[in-house]
Amino acid sequence: MKLLIVGGVAGGASAAARARRLSEDAQIVLFERGPDVSFANCGLPYYVGGEIAERAKLLVTTPERLRSRFNLDVRTQSSVEVIDRTGKKVRVRDLASGREYEETYDKLILAPGAAPLRPPLPGIDLPGIFTLRNLQDVDRIKERVDHGVKQAVLLGGGFISLELAENFVRHGIATTVVEKNEQILTPFDREMTTPIAEHLVTKGVSLLLGQSAEGFEQTPDGLVVMLKSGQRLPAQLVVVGVGVRPENKLAVDAGLQVGPRGGIWVNEYLQTSDPDIYAVGDAIEVKDFILGDPTQVPLAGPANRQGRIAANNIFGRAVKYRGTQGTAILGFFDRTAAMTGASEKVLRRVNRPFRKVYVHPTHHAGYYPGAEPMTLKVLFHPETGKVLGAQAVGGAGVDKRIDVLAVAIQAGMTVFDLEEMELAYAPQFGSAKDPINMAGFVAGGLLRGEHPQVDVEEFLATPAVERPFLLDVRTPKEFASGHIPGAVNIPVDDLRSRLVELPHDREIAAYCQVGQRGYLATRILRQKGYSASNIGGGYTTYKLFQPNVR
Ligand code: FAD
Repeated sequence: MKLLIVGGVAGGASAAARARRLSEDAQIVLFERGPDVSFANCGLPYYVGGEIAERAKLLVTTPERLRSRFNLDVRTQSSVEVIDRTGKKVRVRDLASGREYEETYDKLILAPGAAPLRPPLPGIDLPGIFTLRNLQDVDRIKERVDHGVKQAVLLGGGFISLELAENFVRHGIATTVVEKNEQILTPFDREMTTPIAEHLVTKGVSLLLGQSAEGFEQTPDGLVVMLKSGQRLPAQLVVVGVGVRPENKLAVDAGLQVGPRGGIWVNEYLQTSDPDIYAVGDAIEVKDFILGDPTQVPLAGPANRQGRIAANNIFGRAVKYRGTQGTAILGFFDRTAAMTGASEKVLRRVNRPFRKVYVHPTHHAGYYPGAEPMTLKVLFHPETGKVLGAQAVGGAGVDKRIDVLAVAIQAGMTVFDLEEMELAYAPQFGSAKDPINMAGFVAGGLLRGEHPQVDVEEFLATPAVERPFLLDVRTPKEFASGHIPGAVNIPVDDLRSRLVELPHDREIAAYCQVGQRGYLATRILRQKGYSASNIGGGYTTYKLFQPNVR
């Protein structure tokens, strides 16, 4: 068996190593266009900031190591230019010498990744404007940063931009993030990004939402980024992080099938439309694990697993790729945002039925020092309760909850399973009722009809005259420090003695800070014959929909 692999980083290197573990006899050639293989793309922003001090640490392994340990024929600076499917061979250009040669294959794996988008704006090629994909890019950015950049502009408010923003701020660089949408981190639902957007601003980052660049100009001091709004942002460094596109040229030229957004089509065994050619990683179109629809998800975990699966399939261990559920996480200073599965906006777009809950627990027992609040949103099927997606934002413990929910989704669990989950608990790690259980209790109760709930945005979208009577059951002090306009304050502890103040002929929507006292108030009111619901997640959820950063 002669196996050729195009691309030597996440998917390609994983495939190569797995292939060798499965076959000592195979001839395995790994082609990589760049000078490095298997480098840590995900660590690049932290090398800019100095958190990762040594460049060498970004090299997970070296060509020499792959040769000696795995007996792989690793060819760096080698670009595969053409696939001849009929002749089962590829044409390779050795970028160092310019020499071109052919190499035959029995099986071929394409792992060419995705290239950063570089919109064709006037001035985009001026010095000082970069994208970030590999070590050569990071060297150029770091060189600028180390030579004293005062102002930087990051175009795009995605994961890589925000990671860079943190590292620029650590260097004392005045940083502006320009995002054309009305929210950062677009895979998330907008309200869930509010705390991170506010934190960006707290950390000194200027955040311009709903704005985009229309060009760049050179000035004596560096560059100016010209926005469509007319605003001009001076900068000595600009990084464009507005998305990626699959590197599909080889596949398209070879007549392989690609999806509407350019991802290389593969079946569940990761075989392309040519059964001798497999494809993995950012370059491919995958099945959305929740929706079953084709999608593209550029993440390292899926790329690595797919590389392994492609090698398994080539060497006779038939394994299906289950699909990608988009489990992703961002750290920004001491805050974390993470998600898995479908978002509300995607479910709405594809017209899938769902319900949702928000809970705002602390990451471990509140009485133990250092408890940090988090907001957890869980989306689930309105009849079966099957978990469809989850998002969390907070500090410590967000990663753990999203990982648990990612597993729950993989396992096809329901919110009723979340109620029953037995998770590790001691006060410094969690709570006897973990945030996962809490989300399960609220969602399960909702589906059992135990506590009718009003969604905040539904409430806000209702014309004022048609809204329910709004009852704030927090303390007067909490009420005074901020409340939903139009609310009447009766603390839950006084509720039983002040029932006469409430209307019998109108729906009542009760709320508290996070939903718990509102739930208790709803229970009291309903048993006393009032028609009452709880505003899910309370005032904290309401605040998510009222961002200070616009
Ligand atoms: P890549 O890792 O991009 O590798 C493809 C390789 O193929 C490239 O090196 C390219 O030079 C080579 N190549 C392409 N065409 C040819 C050709 N014709 N001939 C020879 N070689 C070729 N994901 C996460 O899950 N978490 C993170 O925290 C995270 N952080 C990231 C931070 C940054 C700065 C970047 C850039 C990405 C990050 N990602 C992260 C995404 C993750 O790195 C990718 O999803 C993953 O690397 C994709 O693997 P891949 O093998 O498909 O492509």
